[in-house]
Amino acid sequence: MTIDLTGKHALVTGGSRGIGSRLARALHDAGAQVVIFYNRTDAGALARQMQGAGAPVHAVRCDVENREDIRRAVEEALALLDGRIDILINAAGINRRYYLDEFPMEEWDKVININLNAVVYCTQLVGRTMLEHGYGKIINLASMNSFVAAQRVGAYVASKGAIAQITKAFANEWGGRGIRVNAIAPGYIKTDMTAALQENESAYQEILKKIPLERWGTPEDLVGPVLLLASDASDYVNGIVMPIDGGYLTR
Ligand code: NAP
Repeated sequence: MTIDLTGKHALVTGGSRGIGSRLARALHDAGAQVVIFYNRTDAGALARQMQGAGAPVHAVRCDVENREDIRRAVEEALALLDGRIDILINAAGINRRYYLDEFPMEEWDKVININLNAVVYCTQLVGRTMLEHGYGKIINLASMNSFVAAQRVGAYVASKGAIAQITKAFANEWGGRGIRVNAIAPGYIKTDMTAALQENESAYQEILKKIPLERWGTPEDLVGPVLLLASDASDYVNGIVMPIDGGYLTR
């Protein structure tokens, strides 16, 4: 089955690198117009290259740690997308590694602000316009740490546990108004975020031992499930947190 998103308008936060960038490309390859939010990694050239001869792709700067910036950037995205966003992927995220007894509280706040509060605010602003149109597909980035709790990443665990719960809460609130809210929970994916773990041979092997498919994931592994959740093929799917983890959670 081929997923066709021709005519759909998509917004992807964290679209400049890693998972968000791959998912933005996947939505575009399926026919969607896309706005990519980036912060430190200028995504202008990426957007031009992604667009090629296809539907328009725009890059908009947005520091999701800053609520005013989110408001401005969502307005800009709506203007670029003729006032309609059909698909929202909340992919921007960070991690910080400290044991709780050493965790600087400003770093804790940063993780919660970017991974949780920004997702809530983006979802509220974009969701309001989806409600006006009676249609929307929202996909959040949960994690293995939505289900289990790794060490030294307490703020990340807290934020991703909350992502699983707000996915269900908003799916419950908006399901009757044409909006589906779901999350994917990737396993260990090779991106900049996990570079330190990949470079630490014993940590890398330790994680590998827990993956029945015997390999780490790549952003590519997330494309099929996300296209499904973004398309009308999953219209009766609402409020799920879908592990895409090579079976990690089974061990
Ligand atoms: P990544 O390669 O480190 O990319 C992070 C993205 O988030 C970048 O596009 C970055 O944009 C953006 N970002 C960070 N801070 C931002 C800010 N203040 N404002 C706006 N954008 C900001 O990470 P990734 O691995 O692709 O992760 C993407 C999502 O998947 C995250 O939510 C992560 O928690 C989740 N996830 C990842 C894994 C994994 O194993 N990699 C597993 C489960 C879930 P700029 O570079 O432009 O600043």
